[in-house]
Amino acid sequence: MCQDSAMNSDCVKSTVQAKALEHGFDLCRVTQPVVAREHAEALHRWVDAGMQGEMDWMAEEVRLQRRSDPTSMLAGVRSVVTVAMRYTPPEYGLNEACSGTRRGVITAYAHGDDYHEVMKKRLKALARDLDTLLGRHDQRVFVDTAPVLEHALAERAGLGWQGKHTLTIHRGVGSWFLLGEIFTTAEIVPDAQAANHCGSCTACIDICPTGAIVAPYVVDARLCISYLTIEFDGFIPHPLRPLMGNRIYGCDDCQMICPWNEHAGKGTTLGDDLLTPRGENHLPDLVSILQLDEDAFRHRFMKSPIRRTKRRGLLRNVCIAMGNSGHAGFMPDLIAVLDDVEPLIRGHAVWALGQLVGQENRADILAVLVQMNVAEKDDAVREEISLTMRHIRMNDE
Ligand code: SF4
Ligand code: SF4
Repeated sequence: MCQDSAMNSDCVKSTVQAKALEHGFDLCRVTQPVVAREHAEALHRWVDAGMQGEMDWMAEEVRLQRRSDPTSMLAGVRSVVTVAMRYTPPEYGLNEACSGTRRGVITAYAHGDDYHEVMKKRLKALARDLDTLLGRHDQRVFVDTAPVLEHALAERAGLGWQGKHTLTIHRGVGSWFLLGEIFTTAEIVPDAQAANHCGSCTACIDICPTGAIVAPYVVDARLCISYLTIEFDGFIPHPLRPLMGNRIYGCDDCQMICPWNEHAGKGTTLGDDLLTPRGENHLPDLVSILQLDEDAFRHRFMKSPIRRTKRRGLLRNVCIAMGNSGHAGFMPDLIAVLDDVEPLIRGHAVWALGQLVGQENRADILAVLVQMNVAEKDDAVREEISLTMRHIRMNDE
């Protein structure tokens, strides 16, 4: 334990960092509550261009200001303790997240329990230790959901640099980790800012299936498969559907290609029960997900971050993956959800059928769609039916 007279010393910081490791974090650095002007300006440019898509809360003026000024999140804040918690990287290669496969890909961080819950518990435990260590002070913990520019703070704290794909990279650990913060009114000696080591590499920009990294350090969420499959609640724009391959929840391509992840524990498990990948989330069988009703969905994804999409979002994504698979054997399963209660599922099932239909069953599928159209009340689904029928007929000419 450090002496009171040395509260601002490196001893306090190293004790905080040791405690963070005890609580299951892999990295811990400290910085002042300052966001560099270039990060704040980049955030404003991003929002001005509408790249946040339907995440309207990100464009709210109050939230923008809070993101740009961490001191607005806690009166008297003097230090930010940033932590990283690793998760198991994907145990499959990039070519398994593409068209032509019959299984779906779920982003690696979502293979286990919901990290928000896991991390919040650990941060609160660490915060209780800080109470003892730092004496009288106020503090708040944040995990992802608050208006905090966490990658900018992590870079300033020296935890890693923000890569061209906008995620934080640590030289030794790579980027397979999640970030959290404790804001405190106590003063702790800050760490030195991390240097950027992307250099001339453009691998993440080149590999991105949808061209979502529109410039180095700029991801247009409206094109990003992570946003489309998780945050976006509507009908996926038609031109993007074929590019999604079989990614049904998130996308890891830009991390998988990154050279800094090459030696970052690929294929290792972390011995952490809570974040341990659940076997059923490893390249899951698409049919088994498409057959889930509401109760079965809740049960299958209990405590999982995948609940975020709700059943309708995940099954929408599964329909797209099936449509991209080239596997006509999925057609009976898709026909079975044409009367689903959710328009989002019906509409994307229609599209998928249009992708899989062949000469031998074209007349049958057209008959199914004509019949469906008679009873269909939802305008967006009717539009899908109309476009798909036209697509099938054109392909026959
Ligand atoms: S997550 Fe996927 S779609 Fe989004 S930027 Fe990375 S590679 Fe592109
Ligand atoms: S792939 Fe290359 S450019 Fe992209 S984040 Fe990694 S090092 Fe940086």
